[in-house]
Amino acid sequence: MITPGIEISLEKIAHNAKRLKELYASKGIDVIGVTKVVCGDTKIANALIKSGINILADSRIANIKKMVDAGMQAQFLLLRTIYSQAKDVVSYAGISLNSELSVIKELSKYAVKQDTTHKIILMVELGDLREGIMPSDLEKTVNEVIGLKGIELAGIGTNLACFGGIKPDDKKMGYLSSIAQNIEDKFKLKLEFVSGGNSANYDWFMSTNDVGKVNNLRLGESIFSGCETLERKPIPGLFTNAFTLIAEVMESKIKPSLPYGDVYQDAFGNTPKFLDHGLIRRAILGVGLQDVLVSGLTPMLDIDILGASSDHIIIDAKQTDLSVGNTVEFKLNYGALLSAMTSPYINKKYN
Ligand SMILES: *Cc1c(COP(=O)(O)O)cnc(C)c1O
Repeated sequence: MITPGIEISLEKIAHNAKRLKELYASKGIDVIGVTKVVCGDTKIANALIKSGINILADSRIANIKKMVDAGMQAQFLLLRTIYSQAKDVVSYAGISLNSELSVIKELSKYAVKQDTTHKIILMVELGDLREGIMPSDLEKTVNEVIGLKGIELAGIGTNLACFGGIKPDDKKMGYLSSIAQNIEDKFKLKLEFVSGGNSANYDWFMSTNDVGKVNNLRLGESIFSGCETLERKPIPGLFTNAFTLIAEVMESKIKPSLPYGDVYQDAFGNTPKFLDHGLIRRAILGVGLQDVLVSGLTPMLDIDILGASSDHIIIDAKQTDLSVGNTVEFKLNYGALLSAMTSPYINKKYN
């Protein structure tokens, strides 16, 4: 393999997607596959489609365009709608999440121009304080939205545990259900989607006796990492190792553990502090912060990451005898996966 690289098991991803789809379907909830952490990678997106997922979501219209242009057979949902991109949103995504009337009016303008109907899901603020309309303002917005040409109000949704770390629980989901019911009754319509959240909704789903009107979740991380996201606990029956980062040893020597000379700032403006452990086996790996969020890596060998610069990770190899040209494998957390999939320097290998 060309290093640094990321090994991607399409089989493990497909397995996770299939299991989660079946699990959530057992209480009437459909799963949308979220591809943003893998930058809309078309091989991975295809694995999701093969697992029975028929709506793919991404935060970036460029990623959706890439998947549409690759001829992928799915519906596409945009998670983050930006005013100035409205034309492309209508061209490439059939559905989008929205929380601003001015943006929806812009979508309406282009939907009319393109002689199409664009579906929107209105996001409701339930306390996490990222996107969403305050519940007290929702009816007013719905009233305006249903009058717009080329726009179909397809649902409401919420997003928790992203910015504020707020847990989706029975109280929050019950409230979302009651809001959905209220909108349906008041405006005499049927909402196709009541989208309750993301990978953080797992605990709620497992413990609840009644999912109410929630019929949809948008899942990224739990499909790719096999974990829920409130405490990063593994989900039984899922693979947690669908991705592996592979780096190559470029220098390996016995050297002191303590830098010597006068201490000033390092490459990133920090003044480093180290403890003296005497001589250690120091190795340098040919991967750095320009490739991956190094703090999100966990080595699969008993070695310690001492630090990193733009292009190097420095490790204490401890009892492991590493030679130049050997490779070292790492598990990646969400941030590490996001950065590795975004970096043009990381070679992607699928198996
Ligand atoms: C990223 C995102 C998701 C998916 O979150 P995961 O934690 O990866 O499951 C769902 N909804 C929105 C609005 C998002 O931005």
